[in-house]
Amino acid sequence: MILAELASEFEKLSSQISEQYYRQYAGLAYDRELMKKLAQQLTKVSKEFLKEFTDPRSMYLASVETIAEAERLEVELDFHDQRMEKISSEKHLINGKKVNWGNWRQFNSQMDNSQKRKEVFDEFIAKAQKIVHLVEKRMNISREVYRRYNLTPLESYLELEQVSYDDLLNLLRKLGDEAKQTFLSAADHFAPQILQKDKVEYYDDFYTWRGRIFKPLDKYLEGKDPLEEIRRFLGDLRFNISPIKVDAEDRPKKSPSASCWGIQIPNDVRILYRRVSPFTDTRSIFHEFGHGIHGISANPDDSVWKRYIVPMSVAETFSILIESVTENPVFLREDLKLEEAAVREIVDRVRFMNLTFMTFYAANSIMKMEFWKNNYTIEKAALRWEELTEHFFIKTPGIYWVLHHIMPNYDMYSPSYVIAAVRVATLRTKLTQDYGETWWRNREAGELIKQLAQTRGEFNIKKWKLDPETYLKEQKSLSFLA
Ligand SMILES: [Zn+2]
Repeated sequence: MILAELASEFEKLSSQISEQYYRQYAGLAYDRELMKKLAQQLTKVSKEFLKEFTDPRSMYLASVETIAEAERLEVELDFHDQRMEKISSEKHLINGKKVNWGNWRQFNSQMDNSQKRKEVFDEFIAKAQKIVHLVEKRMNISREVYRRYNLTPLESYLELEQVSYDDLLNLLRKLGDEAKQTFLSAADHFAPQILQKDKVEYYDDFYTWRGRIFKPLDKYLEGKDPLEEIRRFLGDLRFNISPIKVDAEDRPKKSPSASCWGIQIPNDVRILYRRVSPFTDTRSIFHEFGHGIHGISANPDDSVWKRYIVPMSVAETFSILIESVTENPVFLREDLKLEEAAVREIVDRVRFMNLTFMTFYAANSIMKMEFWKNNYTIEKAALRWEELTEHFFIKTPGIYWVLHHIMPNYDMYSPSYVIAAVRVATLRTKLTQDYGETWWRNREAGELIKQLAQTRGEFNIKKWKLDPETYLKEQKSLSFLA
């Protein structure tokens, strides 16, 4: 087959698979057998591409990943089920059911008794060993598939993201180190109200904070429809968002976290969303519509690889840019019409979570980079992650990393959010300089974002320099520490 035929086959199969995954997340009927069949066909196309071509390079790397994904499918399904089954509490309940891996975060956000949260955490840490062999297996498959093509998952990641190992390491170190003290001081400030105790401890993980600290903010956004707010916001930027289909229906099996699906880019882009709580709903709707406008802005005449193979940090740049508006004091004051005290409370809490994120993801990302570089076992990775948590925030039992929802499920991914958040700070500075503090009311600002979104897999990464200073300075200014 010639390149164009392979690419169009790749697109056709990918969009059929996405449709099935979309249905699964939406809580609709989906066809497992069809998914397997499509994955096999997609592997065949990828292998054929790898046999015949070395260019375009992004397509080459994506093809290797497609093969790895298909070979991991079985063990990943096992991991998904066993994690739910084996990581489960003997002692604690939530809504009459045993606390397990799936409702752990919900438990942490509802349970005010910190002793009980600690007991569940310790119990899960003790049980983590039961799923270690599956994580080992999953990682070994990736290692093996990439080796066939003289690559590691890390090398492929760094190449797509156009960043060197040392530069990424330095960026993560800088962010983590410089966020640490402010994070710890602010954590002490918030602990009595949010954690119901004097001090933050190892079991108060990122998700416990996130699940608890935003709840008091719901009252400010009660009665506001996040869909209406995002439509108005993107309308001001002159985006025609009617092609983005939103499914806001409530179904029992629908995933509680919002998501965006580029089923066929740019013509079929969908958002799944389920009401959970006003504040976080608003944040996640803005985030997902950021992915949405990125998807619909693609040029339908561009190649398959340009439209589909986008570095993860580039994809997250658009979502984080739009989401970050919901922590912009001017937007909160003028667009959402909030009082000054509410604005301050929202900004402080979001910034605190950004600092928490930086310290946590510095440890996560550095461990993952070293994992591939130094061929760590799961045990060695746990020891290393524990050291890194002590360095960047609070010493946490190392095996926690296999209980995380991203680290054991992906080869890399972790650093992409960090890179994107820092890149967005650069982009926001540019938007503010050129179009003013309320840049979202300027049609030219919208035009710039649209043009950037249209570059998709050819986004000019080098042009948007990462400036950790600007980002850190902004996140570290908390009103109660001034
Ligand atoms: Zn995202």
